[in-house]
Amino acid sequence: MFFSIHDLEVRKIHFDVEFPPGEIDFLDPGVRQTGVLMARGTAELLSHTLGEIRVRGHLKVTMEAPCDRCLEPAALLIDSDFDLFYRPLATGPEAPEVEIHDGETEIGFYVKDGLELEEVLREFVLLAMPMQKVCKPDCKGICPQCGQNRNEAACDCRLDLIDDRWAALKNL
Ligand SMILES: [Zn+2]
Ligand SMILES: [Zn+2]
Repeated sequence: MFFSIHDLEVRKIHFDVEFPPGEIDFLDPGVRQTGVLMARGTAELLSHTLGEIRVRGHLKVTMEAPCDRCLEPAALLIDSDFDLFYRPLATGPEAPEVEIHDGETEIGFYVKDGLELEEVLREFVLLAMPMQKVCKPDCKGICPQCGQNRNEAACDCRLDLIDDRWAALKNL
């Protein structure tokens, strides 16, 4: 879905879209969309600006990325409001300096005559991915010594760990 400046000059555009996995390329091989992405909201051209577009709404999607601790796939639900601003990317020697102030981190740029909704959604999903990606809150991770996934089995690396097999033999 493309928001052209021409259309936005006339009116605010409403969208209510669904993208099945695979339709949006997240450009990151470590990140995969596993559920339908649902997004609704509006795009509008802000008056009294040099063509700034504001896209806001709500997005819901389930993504998958390797768990930070054990590297198994971790499901990450994003269910969040968004409010993003895009400025025209000016080119040429007369381009004015664009100042980005603190707190305006959600500013992007668009080129030519408009903005693609899919690009807005991709950018927001990547922004909204949690810093810590874990398959479950109590993931035990991989043993740094032997590489065993400690969610699947314990390993014998910790010296202070009592080995149950020896304890069982002593009872024979
Ligand atoms: Zn994990
Ligand atoms: Zn180990």
